[in-house]
Amino acid sequence: MSQDAALRERAARVIPGGLWGHLRVQGLPPGYPQFFSRAQGCRLWDADGREFIDFMCSWGPVVLGHHDPDVQAAAAAQARLGDTMNGPAPVLVELAEHFTSLVAHADWVLFAKNGTDATTICVTTARAATGRRKLLVAQGAYHGAAPWCTPYPAGTTAEDRAHLLHYRYNDIASLEQAAAQAGEDLAAVLVSPFRHDYGVDLELPTPGFATAARALCDRTGAALILDEVRTGCRLDLAGSWEHLGVRPDLAAWSKAIANGHALAAVTGNDRYRAAAASIFVTGSFWCGAVAMAAALATLRKLQALDGIAQMRAMGQRLRDGLGAQAAAHGFRIRQSGPPQMPLLLFDDDPDCALGTAFCSLALQRGVYLHPKHNMFLSVAHRAEDIDQALQATDDAFAALARR
Ligand code: PMP
Repeated sequence: MSQDAALRERAARVIPGGLWGHLRVQGLPPGYPQFFSRAQGCRLWDADGREFIDFMCSWGPVVLGHHDPDVQAAAAAQARLGDTMNGPAPVLVELAEHFTSLVAHADWVLFAKNGTDATTICVTTARAATGRRKLLVAQGAYHGAAPWCTPYPAGTTAEDRAHLLHYRYNDIASLEQAAAQAGEDLAAVLVSPFRHDYGVDLELPTPGFATAARALCDRTGAALILDEVRTGCRLDLAGSWEHLGVRPDLAAWSKAIANGHALAAVTGNDRYRAAAASIFVTGSFWCGAVAMAAALATLRKLQALDGIAQMRAMGQRLRDGLGAQAAAHGFRIRQSGPPQMPLLLFDDDPDCALGTAFCSLALQRGVYLHPKHNMFLSVAHRAEDIDQALQATDDAFAALARR
């Protein structure tokens, strides 16, 4: 029996369902491992020692590469001094100054641990500021695992979501319609920088949609909340809607800001400063200094290397290669999203059966992809790694064609 199978068998006895949440292997293509023993750069090794070129990057957090030496050195130096203490370390202020200087809309920031903390704090701040209740959320968008936003309603109540109203991404009329339904009670519009729903083509925002969302919030006095949890630090360090000239009031960050260390952030403008000071949000580990030192090192290195441009270039190299291979092997595919957060779907593949089979075949050849969720590039992906991965995917396409 493989190590992975043995661990899964033991886990099934003491962990409900074998594992909780999005990393459960049951949601992945056949043959995918559940357990990993180590990771370095753009590679990871499963519990049985199989090596993979990693295109999920821990589902986003790893942006410079696994176990980045500079981030790990900064974290280790802080760990020698102190981590969770009776109050934060000086690095909190340094990180807050640095992050607010990077993020264009940010007059202030506060830190937490997970993306759900950050989106929830944005909502609480918006409600405290406006004294209103209703939230507009795009159909199918994921904003976290708390009862107010989880897409899996087991154990939640209808009341938890009583104040959510839905619009369609990039559909201004549906946004206006939802706002009209909320009327005087509209507290906030939540929006992700691009549409990255599970299992469907990724969709970039139209400039008109972003501008309309901003104008609607200005007109109604509601907060525009940008959920940067997945996109943050991969598209634009100043904010993912900067290229559209649209700035949110509040933004939620997590995943990539500390290269795998647990940290989340909420940024806001001065209109929301008093409300953010008035709410009570906290957690036993939220002032942990190690993750903050890691974040500072991550942000500085991303800037120094122009990491975003590198990720985009490597993502484009992967996309070009996959496109050429699919055509050569007679498959019609669609590739969507920013190159550094790509998704590959096959045409005429409504259940993603072909995509799932392709990912299984790629995994057998040493490449870790995802058939339905957007993937992630990191700064550790070099041209040689992409080219090695493409050799494996070429072989995977060939094997798929033989089926
Ligand atoms: N918002 C978005 C857009 C996300 O992708 C995620 C996580 N996938 C979250 C919020 C929640 O983050 P976390 O899992 O860290 O709570």
